[in-house]
Amino acid sequence: MSRFAKKKKKTEKYEGTIMPKPKKRLDVIATRAMEWQARWAGGLKYEVSHKNRIIVERFVVDLLAGTCSCRFWGLCGMPCPHACCAIFEKGDSPEDYCNNFYSSAAYVATYGNLVSPINGENMWPKVECDTIILPIFRVKPGRPRMVRITEPNENRSQTKLRRTGSSVTCSNCDQYGHNRRHCPDPIVSEPGLAATTNGEDPNAAADNRSGMNIRRSERIRQTGVGRRRGRGRGKDSGRGRAAS
Ligand SMILES: [Zn+2]
Ligand SMILES: [Zn+2]
Repeated sequence: MSRFAKKKKKTEKYEGTIMPKPKKRLDVIATRAMEWQARWAGGLKYEVSHKNRIIVERFVVDLLAGTCSCRFWGLCGMPCPHACCAIFEKGDSPEDYCNNFYSSAAYVATYGNLVSPINGENMWPKVECDTIILPIFRVKPGRPRMVRITEPNENRSQTKLRRTGSSVTCSNCDQYGHNRRHCPDPIVSEPGLAATTNGEDPNAAADNRSGMNIRRSERIRQTGVGRRRGRGRGKDSGRGRAAS
């Protein structure tokens, strides 16, 4: 409230078309315009090149459209050194070519309205209705999430890069976009793979996903190595336990 009032008072005293901070920035840009040389191309178009002939950069400035090919003018809303050079060539002031939101009129429009002061709580009018109570808090099932849900394009780690922009190739049909497991075509078993399936008929089990699962569980039963291999730490496989 008082911040708005202070800013409004400040603007009343200020004389100038654009506000002090953008003015300071524009002054720096205007001094840099001395390094450039503008050549009139007819209408309000100029070709601006550097006075130093070693620098071969050249820009097209359109004062009517308010653009420079370096794109600073369109981005920041104030003319770049090249545009300033063209403006000086025309005999105008760069302040007249700044965007409206740098003007003191825009500042007045923002802070000109008053935020009305209010009385204390004891003077507020009483309302006849039931007291509004808090909603009942219920603990949701499941473990509470400890990590924030990240955006799809957000880098999760600062040290590791995620695999983005790459596509998988199906080893079954050699097409992009899916892997062998989700291949729409019937899976063709390789001769090398068929030899490792313990005499099982490769064509019978290789048709669908459940066939692959059967094969895996059978191998587990036969060799005795299964789930407990490397999947987390068991009760007696922790490092601290082993040391004591
Ligand atoms: Zn420019
Ligand atoms: Zn495929």
